[in-house]
Amino acid sequence: MKSPLLSRMLRVLIVAALITLSLPRPALAQTSGLTYAVKSGDTLSFIAASFHTTVTRLLLVNSVPDPNNVQPGTVLVIPGFEDVQGEAIAVTLPAFESLDTFNRRTRVPEQLMNRLDFITNPDALYAGQPYYVIYKEELPQVEIPITSGIADFEFAVRQGVNPFLPAEFNDLNGSWDLLPNDTIFLPSDQVTSVFTPISPLSSLNIDQTPLRQGKTTELRATGMGSAALTGTLGAYPLHFFPASDGSQVALQGIERMLEPGLLPLVVTLTNPDGTTFSIQHTLRLREQDYGTDVPFQVADEYIDPAITTPEFNQIRDLTLPAPAERLWDKFVAPDPYPDLFTSTFGRLRSYNGSTYSYFHAGLDFVGSPADPAYAAANGTVVFAGALTVRGNAIVISHGWGVYSGYWHLSEIDVAVGDYVEAGRKIGMVGATGRVTGPHLHFEMLVGGVQVDPTEWLQNMYDAY
Ligand SMILES: [Zn+2]
Repeated sequence: MKSPLLSRMLRVLIVAALITLSLPRPALAQTSGLTYAVKSGDTLSFIAASFHTTVTRLLLVNSVPDPNNVQPGTVLVIPGFEDVQGEAIAVTLPAFESLDTFNRRTRVPEQLMNRLDFITNPDALYAGQPYYVIYKEELPQVEIPITSGIADFEFAVRQGVNPFLPAEFNDLNGSWDLLPNDTIFLPSDQVTSVFTPISPLSSLNIDQTPLRQGKTTELRATGMGSAALTGTLGAYPLHFFPASDGSQVALQGIERMLEPGLLPLVVTLTNPDGTTFSIQHTLRLREQDYGTDVPFQVADEYIDPAITTPEFNQIRDLTLPAPAERLWDKFVAPDPYPDLFTSTFGRLRSYNGSTYSYFHAGLDFVGSPADPAYAAANGTVVFAGALTVRGNAIVISHGWGVYSGYWHLSEIDVAVGDYVEAGRKIGMVGATGRVTGPHLHFEMLVGGVQVDPTEWLQNMYDAY
């Protein structure tokens, strides 16, 4: 038998439920729970998938006049988040910002964000990935990177704030949670003595994300003052050099055959006082389709790894150093026929019945032994001689780890150590090495990696 109290509570609940059912549906904008305002281009199935629910459940809790045509601006209640209050907004994670920092900037508690976005592995997040957050009005706040040399208490004192405030304002368990390389925020009105507000997170830019197979990647850091920058992108070391506009630039090629996926980027800033600040981020590498060639037949020696591997390594090792002096200012076509190509970069190739495990590492210009080959940009000759696969070859160093290669020549007119200017004749086009006919194979190597020369010849990397 039920206790009188329990049965009374039950009655109250039933009455409350009946009242709720009989009330007219409140205006959607005032609905409690998690809401989402439809954007143009959204579909119900996309919204349902984003929040791990179903269209049926969405329709059950929302009155939608035409499920096939949901008007932008329609506010939907998202089932499954009845205990959450607020409107979900789609945002993207800025490049070089950790999820922790992002949560603090948007003032979204980490657990709520993990729940809204079904995040199970924060390390697998990448720049440009869309997220849903509950928007709260941003308070005027100051962004503070935590360098290696600053202890918690010293940090608070230097900011002139109460030592408990950093933990409180940033959802930290305590000041011990404040770690080097983290970024925290403090309310502007309480910070009385901001010291060197270096803000590396907002001043490091990458020219293209996602990264693409076989392309050059440019990282440009501005506002770093006299800090030194070092870093790695995947397995590649990064070399930063000062550009004329005061920024620091690192250029790195991404291998044509590198497996698409996620590539970790780490950039460390070392201040003149020796303190450091590291940025870690994961960048996505996208597959790039360059086309496929018909199968080739060549003499066996040209695909014998005993010959091809040492020759490949010789060129790679030659092009790994990154001299600090930038010698190029403008790239020009290395051939008298600047727009006539017999093959382009990146095409997958099969030799003598192999799988398509080879690729074309350069840009082939039309030419005969009567045509000159020109230096594509100012630089120093670092190789001039005969190779098996590449034939008579020249490699020019342009500084900053940028090199150009000229293969299959019939004649070489320069020697190692020569300084050459853009457009100067360095040899004659030919048909030496692994070729099916005379042409100029022109190759660009950046940080020891063969890249698509197209962007270089389109003068995308001239202005530093
Ligand atoms: Zn070629």
